[in-house]
Amino acid sequence: MRIGLFGGTFNPIHLGHLKAAKRVKAHFALDTVVFIPSALPPHKDPINICKPKDRLEMVRLAIAGYQGLSLSDSELKRAGYSYTIDTVCSLKNEYDDDDQLFLLMGLDAFLEIQTWKSYADLFRLIASIVMLRPGVGGADFNQMQTLVDQYLTSIISPRYRYSVEKKCFTHAKLQPVSLYDVAPLDISATAVREQLKRRQSIASLVPPQVAEYIQRKGLYQ
Ligand code: ATP
Repeated sequence: MRIGLFGGTFNPIHLGHLKAAKRVKAHFALDTVVFIPSALPPHKDPINICKPKDRLEMVRLAIAGYQGLSLSDSELKRAGYSYTIDTVCSLKNEYDDDDQLFLLMGLDAFLEIQTWKSYADLFRLIASIVMLRPGVGGADFNQMQTLVDQYLTSIISPRYRYSVEKKCFTHAKLQPVSLYDVAPLDISATAVREQLKRRQSIASLVPPQVAEYIQRKGLYQ
């Protein structure tokens, strides 16, 4: 099986996340994309983050009915900060040896990866798929490719090279890094929370069942 791991705070999950996951799943012929909400993200201010149980439930509601999108509560079962390296190691043990795993992330997340715990090990363990995101590092695919090239070769390893044939950055010893222009939606969880604070509609930003959950639970007021 080809499995995409899509970690995030999902505070809350929005249509940008869903579109990105569906497009990447189709383009890279993944069997499933697993959403993995973090319990305690190391890089975000915990004050603005609602309970992990609520964020998990919103992801569950958002993906209900979509074949090939699934949910893992693995980070919620661990105490302390949710580090991607720990999640990847534990999920690698759960899946079969011949399953292929891919780590999905937006360009904004990728360009901060040097701040992640044991980030160098991630490039040994798992292939990455980096998705274009509006407002981050230029608007088009070529700019994204240049940015990722510079980042990979200066921060991770000078031996990463773009392969036109394979359409990804390859390395003799490390895992490949693919890029994908998902024709992304310019939506962020920050924008969803701001709309809610202003008491404006979030109907165009999140699935209706997520909007209903937020309203029923009085989240982000
Ligand atoms: P916030 O605004 O609170 O920082 P966010 O919208 O960036 O949140 P996260 O849960 O932090 O959402 O994102 C999880 C992952 O999804 C990250 O890798 C991020 O880059 C990616 N992502 C988020 N929104 C989009 C989008 N609109 N298009 C593509 N990728 C996205």
